[in-house]
Amino acid sequence: MKALVWHGKEDIRYDTVSDPEIEHPRDAIVKVTSCAICGSDLHLFHNFIPAMMPGDIMGHEMMGEVVEVGSGVNGHLKKGDRVVVPFTIICGECDQCKRGNFSVCQNSNRKKHLADKVFGHATAGLFGYTHLTGGYPGGQAEYLRVPFADATHIKVPDGIPDEKLLFLGDIFPTGWQAAVQCDIQPTDTVAIWGCGPVGQMAIRSAVLLGAQRVVAIDRVPERLEMAEAGGAITINFDEESVVERLNELTGGEGPEKCIDAVGLEAHVTPSLPDTVYDRAKQMVGMESDRPHVLREMIYVCRPAGVISIPGVYGGLVDKIPMGQLMNKGLTIRTGQTHVNRWTDDLLRRIEEGQIDPSFVITHTVSLEEGPEMYKVFRDKQDSCVKVVLKP
Ligand SMILES: [Zn+2]
Ligand SMILES: [Zn+2]
Repeated sequence: MKALVWHGKEDIRYDTVSDPEIEHPRDAIVKVTSCAICGSDLHLFHNFIPAMMPGDIMGHEMMGEVVEVGSGVNGHLKKGDRVVVPFTIICGECDQCKRGNFSVCQNSNRKKHLADKVFGHATAGLFGYTHLTGGYPGGQAEYLRVPFADATHIKVPDGIPDEKLLFLGDIFPTGWQAAVQCDIQPTDTVAIWGCGPVGQMAIRSAVLLGAQRVVAIDRVPERLEMAEAGGAITINFDEESVVERLNELTGGEGPEKCIDAVGLEAHVTPSLPDTVYDRAKQMVGMESDRPHVLREMIYVCRPAGVISIPGVYGGLVDKIPMGQLMNKGLTIRTGQTHVNRWTDDLLRRIEEGQIDPSFVITHTVSLEEGPEMYKVFRDKQDSCVKVVLKP
């Protein structure tokens, strides 16, 4: 089959690889009808997340049709079923899965020894996301092996186009969880850093969850326009001070809730000296991640507020103002998304027309064009916000 394969830093190729096969009774094979490039794939593209290996198949946002099931799937899934595949692989029966903490499933990471060493405790296996999370082949491919397929799936009805459903596997529940973690009250101002695909979903989620006001921060005009269309007040950080504008909007009190939809690759700009400092330290290996957004959120957040972090971080950050964080009594909530905790509710909201997540798609191309689209997406060329690939 054909797939997008990681070969090294900024080197993703459209390769011929062997077809996946049932390796375990609980496996299923899915023929991928649509997949997407996620913002967090760019961290792999840039080789900022450790433990990628040449030959790894990319992709963790995908959907398709079940074409084969193992003997242990036990009727939970059958040939012909239409499914969205969550990016988190879940066993459905460990203590964490039973509590709905799916992204920290205790059984699905087949490289547990490696992750135990690095993280203290292993987290769930993830598709197409480094050997720290199991080294499972991803879904930017014609076919995908789904381990623990009896639990790791979201069944979706026929008659709704792929584009409306695909993002149930990652960015929609990721933006949703980010907003839910803020415990939004009707009087809240929710500020969201980053208007990429997850930021866009977080904006709409915060609106659906009843925030009084949503403020979105980015520098790319197309992304800011999309944020505004979703109901946000926008701040272009190239043109004005984020802290000053947020304080102005909130009578000097700061936003009650802050969401970091940027993660470890915060934009580097000379007008923000700490971003230059982070870039320099990152280049010499003294810091793995660039946490400008975290510092800004801690500074501007209203005392007793909440900081929610769906953005991906990979390792160590420097100069986090612990004194501000502690004295202001801020709560930090974070985590990879517990996808299946949210998807029944979110599928219903799509079916009822409360939201159509396909608004975020700017490019739909063949899988073969994937390697080029990584660059277009990374450089935000051609007004690119979100890429869908058709195998
Ligand atoms: Zn993702
Ligand atoms: Zn589990």
